[in-house]
Amino acid sequence: MTVQKIQSVCVYCGSRKGNKPYYEALAQNMGHLIASHNMHLVYGAGSIGLMGTVARAASEKGADVIGIIPEHLDAVEITQDGLAELHITDDMHERKKMMFDRSDAFIVLPGGLGTLDETMEMMTWAQLSLHKKPIVLVNYKDFWTPLVELIKHVVDDGFANPDHADLIKVVTTAEEAIEYLATYGGDYD
Ligand code: AMP
Repeated sequence: MTVQKIQSVCVYCGSRKGNKPYYEALAQNMGHLIASHNMHLVYGAGSIGLMGTVARAASEKGADVIGIIPEHLDAVEITQDGLAELHITDDMHERKKMMFDRSDAFIVLPGGLGTLDETMEMMTWAQLSLHKKPIVLVNYKDFWTPLVELIKHVVDDGFANPDHADLIKVVTTAEEAIEYLATYGGDYD
């Protein structure tokens, strides 16, 4: 078993900022914490919404930010300037695969349907034993409580193994998320 420190973290979050100011503050804090823990940020390369906020915050504190965007979203999500690496993919599938390949772990902040899709994909790949990379859901101000309850309901009604609920680590703050990953002792290869 190889236990290596988590170096590269993918953040999934909204391409919008939501309608409460604390979501953006959370995203900014998350970016700063990734940088102060000497981790790289992997994300969808956009400059809009919470994803743009995380990227700029991580970058301004010195983190390498790796952005991966499909060609057709380059204009829609307005690719962020100044990234350490920018990869333009042919399509969404290639983007998601490259984001997965470049990351040791995933952090989920508040977001919309795209964020849900990305989170569910990482959970279902873990369920199928395709990876062991940790997935941390930041349930800030109960934003993700309905999702946590839905997953429990799916387990309670016999559609997933009880231990599948443990495929995500649920925390409530950005500090807890980074602390969990900075001290992560599992094998994630
Ligand atoms: P959203 O949470 O909907 O604001 O989207 C957040 C990110 O997920 C953005 O970078 C979107 O391009 C991306 N996204 C949107 N739809 C999908 C999808 N079906 N699969 C994967 N990612 C998506």
